[in-house]
Amino acid sequence: MSLEENIEENIQLIDIIESRFGFSFVCYNCYNKETDCNERNRINHGICKSCFKSNTSYGCSICNIFKTSDYDLNLEARKATYRNSNYVLCENCYEEVDYYRFYCTYCYDKETDINKKFHMKFGSHFGIFNTSDYNLNLKERIVKYKDFNYILCEECNNEIFKEDFYCAYCYNEETDIIKKGHMKFGLNFEIFNTFDYNLNLEERRTKYMNFDDILCEKCNNKMDKRNFYCAPCYNIETDITKKGHMKFGPKFGIFKTSDYNLDLEERRKKYMNYDNILCEE
Ligand SMILES: [Zn+2]
Ligand SMILES: [Zn+2]
Ligand SMILES: [Zn+2]
Ligand SMILES: [Zn+2]
Ligand SMILES: [Zn+2]
Repeated sequence: MSLEENIEENIQLIDIIESRFGFSFVCYNCYNKETDCNERNRINHGICKSCFKSNTSYGCSICNIFKTSDYDLNLEARKATYRNSNYVLCENCYEEVDYYRFYCTYCYDKETDINKKFHMKFGSHFGIFNTSDYNLNLKERIVKYKDFNYILCEECNNEIFKEDFYCAYCYNEETDIIKKGHMKFGLNFEIFNTFDYNLNLEERRTKYMNFDDILCEKCNNKMDKRNFYCAPCYNIETDITKKGHMKFGPKFGIFKTSDYNLDLEERRKKYMNYDNILCEE
């Protein structure tokens, strides 16, 4: 390089630093000579650290652009795809995609088709839980929806969690205890009436044996079919006679500490009409 050329190059260097874009570190002589679009992008914006392709003014056009086809992925897969990008732009509207939920909230709000909305939010593996599915019991619901990552309520479009298999939102809105039981347990449940505590265990078993689930009329909790009384209601009851009544029906006796004065024959006689005998203590 001659001295003259060297001076020429230095003048060019000053041009670079004082270009109207600030310190862009681009030689516009070379840039203007470049005809390849990719190469021009590289000169201006560098390369992507993930795929090593030229960046554009909005970052990497491969790694930073959320494609419509990405909506087929579930949330985890979307996150994995874009884990190296600090921000992601929507292919359709070039707005920034919500980085935590991974869908374009702008396009989502504009979309009117509920199925397409679900697709954007949940990927392709979602199922719509029909109101008629409440006729199924839990096992049948599990079988029907086992292949879906997400289950959405037909009524309110909220997500139904796989631990419950009923819409918690609709359930809370519902005030009718029969309808609530139906949502939770399907068709084959029965409400255990408080007056059924007058039945003994055997009679309760006979009355309710054909039901999958038995719910307490008072607190709506599910009853254990071995005991046939409501454990939560039993636990909050403080009266021992009422507790015994719940557990054993009307035919139980309370064995008094003073009964220890009786001999076996006398005790037998005193309590022979009771199915169950509870200790007073
Ligand atoms: Zn140059
Ligand atoms: Zn890239
Ligand atoms: Zn968009
Ligand atoms: Zn719902
Ligand atoms: Zn109860």
